[in-house]
Amino acid sequence: MTDRKTTDAAPKQARKPVDGLVVCDACPVLCRIRPDRTGACGRYGNVGGVLARTDPFILAQRVADEDGAVVPFLEKEWDGKLLPDETTFVTGVGSGTTYPDYKPAPFIVASAHDGVDMVTVVTEGIFSYCGIKVKIDTDRYVGPERAAVRCRGEEVGHVTTAEYGSQMLALGGVHHLTGGSKKEGTVTCDMMLRLCNKEAVDFEVDGGAAMTLQAGQAPVVDESREERMRVGCGSATIGMFAKQWHDHVDEVIVVDDHITGVLTEHQAGRFLGMAPAGIRIGGRRSTPGRYFQVAEPGTGWGGTNITDPLSIIDKIDPKVAFPGLRLLMVSTTGEDAEYFILDDALVPVPADMPAALQTTVERIGENCEPALATILFMAGAGGSLRAGVTENPVRLTRSVKAALTRVTCGGAPVYVWPGGGITILADVTRMPDNSFGYVPTPAIVAPIEFTMRLDDYRELGGHMGSVQRIGDVVGGDRVQVTQWHEHNPWPWAPAGSGP
Ligand code: SF4
Repeated sequence: MTDRKTTDAAPKQARKPVDGLVVCDACPVLCRIRPDRTGACGRYGNVGGVLARTDPFILAQRVADEDGAVVPFLEKEWDGKLLPDETTFVTGVGSGTTYPDYKPAPFIVASAHDGVDMVTVVTEGIFSYCGIKVKIDTDRYVGPERAAVRCRGEEVGHVTTAEYGSQMLALGGVHHLTGGSKKEGTVTCDMMLRLCNKEAVDFEVDGGAAMTLQAGQAPVVDESREERMRVGCGSATIGMFAKQWHDHVDEVIVVDDHITGVLTEHQAGRFLGMAPAGIRIGGRRSTPGRYFQVAEPGTGWGGTNITDPLSIIDKIDPKVAFPGLRLLMVSTTGEDAEYFILDDALVPVPADMPAALQTTVERIGENCEPALATILFMAGAGGSLRAGVTENPVRLTRSVKAALTRVTCGGAPVYVWPGGGITILADVTRMPDNSFGYVPTPAIVAPIEFTMRLDDYRELGGHMGSVQRIGDVVGGDRVQVTQWHEHNPWPWAPAGSGP
């Protein structure tokens, strides 16, 4: 990540001055940057002896048709024309960082909306307290809960809870960034940067799977690209399809790593008046027709390790079962399904699946949503960052909690955790591309914006002397005007009014 040829970190002892060298003070590294070079993070450079932020500074424009629907527009370089207040949002992407934060944020921009004077304070926050929550839509076994997740051999997070049809990971965080070896911190920072910037990253789980994850894309688990998120657990699947099955089959077993369902034992089968079929499966019975632990987790049927569905049948009761009994076994995504008929010795024999049953199997698949990896960036807008917004930082926290100040990341809405501080969660797919950067302390750099009424800003002790209008904000060639993300609520719209 670090271009060591381009920079020298601040010396402990004075060095011989170099002509044209500039010192970047945008983070604690204090790079001494030679002419026409960039600092360690690549975000700041020495341009003609002047310290300059190198990446585009992103303004997002919302162009709507007569009905208010957002319409496409071509991304373009700013042509120098005045940008209208009511359709332009100044994001923190490329805005720069102020350090230390007692200085005002890089841009504090006033604009008028529906006759109300508003202000947006934008900055690129440096976050060492930050992490990533990953939701992987898969039934496949990724590894035991609490197992280490590794990237390039370094521990960068862990497996956490399994949720409905999904497996969660907790990646990054301050302990991996700064609490381990230098290499662990560097790899963790690079992993977070790439994942947040929507790149694909490879992981291995101790005692579990190898995975490739990318925001908004299908996860790849042990070289299998996950296509479908399960329709529900085995019990839920029976609840959904029992009525469509009961005229065509004598028993259905829905194989699932969480709850395997047995139709005739299940409340749904009983309610439909289905007779018991006498097929007993292994595992631990939870309630009638619902079984835990029928097999080990794995990459086979329904997130179990089985490839032969009959292996979960414990016994077939000759007093209840009968020759010719029709049995459907299916997984919770419909990707695996087999149909059997019991022969005279009550042995299940594979048979062609009747069309009516094939339709239900296809319908299970149809009801599965596309499997995705979801990447949520989590960070705390801590003590010092808030000082760039107001001279009395706790007032900003109170204003956010009172919903007087709206927080966004690159224009994307964030969830603000209850409790102390301003701890946020943001979906990186709702942010502009390459929104994130890093500094080699190591820490992640992310855009953050605080939008409120100008009166409220004054009230909370804002840096009123630094307020500018949009037209005054930029005059350089770094400005890039991009399209507002159509699914993001417009920051000046009243809460609940939609995008
Ligand atoms: S790492 Fe980047 S932000 Fe920090 S001092 Fe160097 S150039 Fe500036």
